Amino acid sequence: MSSDTPFKLTYATMFNPPEELHEHFESALAEVKAELGKEYGMIIAGEDRKAGATFEDRSPINTDWILGYFQEGDAQTAADAIQAARRAFPAWSSRPWQERVALLRKAAELIDQRIFKIGAVIALEVGKNRTEALGDAAETADLIRYACDQITANNGFIKEMGHDPLQGFKATNFSVLKPYGVWLIVSPFNFPAALTGGPAGAAMAAGNTVVIKPASDTPWTSRLLAECFRDAGLPAGVCNYVTGPGRTLGQALIDSPDVDGITFTGSYAVGMHIFRSFAQGAYVRPTILEMGGKNPAIVSRNADVEEAAVGIVRSAFGLQGQKCSACSRVYIEKPVYQQVLSRMVDLTGKLGLGDPTERDNYLGPVVNKNSYHEYQAYIDEMNQAGARFLTGGKILTEGELAKGYFCAPTIAVDLPLDQRLWKQEMFVPITTVAPVDDLEEAMGYANAVAYGLTSGFYGSLEEAKWFFDAIQAGVNYVNRPQGATTGAWPGFQPFGGWKGSGSSGKNAGGLYYVQLYMHEQIQTLIQKT
Ligand code: NDP
Repeated sequence: MSSDTPFKLTYATMFNPPEELHEHFESALAEVKAELGKEYGMIIAGEDRKAGATFEDRSPINTDWILGYFQEGDAQTAADAIQAARRAFPAWSSRPWQERVALLRKAAELIDQRIFKIGAVIALEVGKNRTEALGDAAETADLIRYACDQITANNGFIKEMGHDPLQGFKATNFSVLKPYGVWLIVSPFNFPAALTGGPAGAAMAAGNTVVIKPASDTPWTSRLLAECFRDAGLPAGVCNYVTGPGRTLGQALIDSPDVDGITFTGSYAVGMHIFRSFAQGAYVRPTILEMGGKNPAIVSRNADVEEAAVGIVRSAFGLQGQKCSACSRVYIEKPVYQQVLSRMVDLTGKLGLGDPTERDNYLGPVVNKNSYHEYQAYIDEMNQAGARFLTGGKILTEGELAKGYFCAPTIAVDLPLDQRLWKQEMFVPITTVAPVDDLEEAMGYANAVAYGLTSGFYGSLEEAKWFFDAIQAGVNYVNRPQGATTGAWPGFQPFGGWKGSGSSGKNAGGLYYVQLYMHEQIQTLIQKT
């Protein structure tokens, strides 16, 4: 965007962007579509690297579209990338923090400059609509800058401590936060830019060197980010990018004793597996896990019905329910239950669905065949359990939609409250809704899950305080029509989860995040007086 416009793209402002954004996106999309089907290498020690085999990256919008061919890295790839990162570590970590931060800021600038191309690739790879896709890229740059800002504001985390009173001596004590070494970033498909570039940027700004392993559904987006880091002038080996299956390449990276720390973002099952695998090392190494969610919205009888319905529908179905922060269950006090529900049904019926790169489509496909089949299995299971579908409940196969993985956004009611899907992350466009007698009952359900990522509440100001006190989750919104449970932005709503949603208790894009990538060293120097 040009610098004279006050518009800043975030997930909360994305609903009415200026015309200029559409024009830039469309021309970038045309350029990207003209270059589909190329082969891309990995980047190890600054060099393009091939593996013995490649895999196809197809678009979920239309599976005839082969976006590119990517390398199927293996155990040797893992070892080479880790060694490249290890070799680059001494020089990178001993560089003054000001220089590291300057290079990372340059990478963030390059992401901004290339935002429309990156956004077009995200839209095609994930099936995101254009504003969501551009938001993912913009958030990446902001996450990197936020980590840089924190290091700068804290003077590189080099702090003088007290002088202990020693007779005949002068004591000087410093606390210095230092990087760990080689940091592994394993990222998911749904925010392939922000959840790769964000943690990688923080890790490198802190002085670590990184190996990035993106989801196999979205290797292209991460390749574009790795190019931004390379083109910003980061020395060879500081940022290595490898592609290939999680089960083989990913596992080989996790199993390496030469990895000093991990940031994994993805499902609970894989995250816990990685946590346990990584714990087999000789000593405990930092493991930042950002995992799933089962995010509730609670609507009080005092809520603004329109705000509640708009916010819930956006969060339930944005990115086809495939956000870790998606609103997948809703508890509504009985006096407003019918009103909120019928407005949710109206709004859902109006959502544009189809090729999400087209301007009027808010919803695209789910990411792959597996998710497509899971959607159908959940619908069958709910049906058998007695649920009714007020919208959706089926896959969509008319015309061009048959070429992709399109599922109708589904509002389900009458699912018994003890049915297991009230507690399980589904990660498809299905939300379940139930009436409750009072807010305490709703809060009981809200907290009775193994997750604690985000939540939403609609009600009075007095109730808001009660809500913040009682809810067990990392990111919580009250009376937010821009999204009941979704739409966090670095510096505004740092993002992270409690319980099974996250391991560190400190949120990305927040005040305490970049410190996770450093360990503390105390330096005490004694001089005779
Ligand atoms: P997955 O857990 O399936 O995969 C995540 C990453 O782990 C991928 O890169 C995958 O590679 C890799 N992987 C899989 N197995 C292994 C292994 N044995 N060793 C090392 N790496 C492995 O998640 P999805 O990509 O499907 O993403 C969706 C999930 O992510 C949801 O549960 C969602 O809630 C969660 N998420 C959490 C967020 C948070 O901040 N808390 C944010 C966004 C998403 P490959 O693709 O090759 O299998």
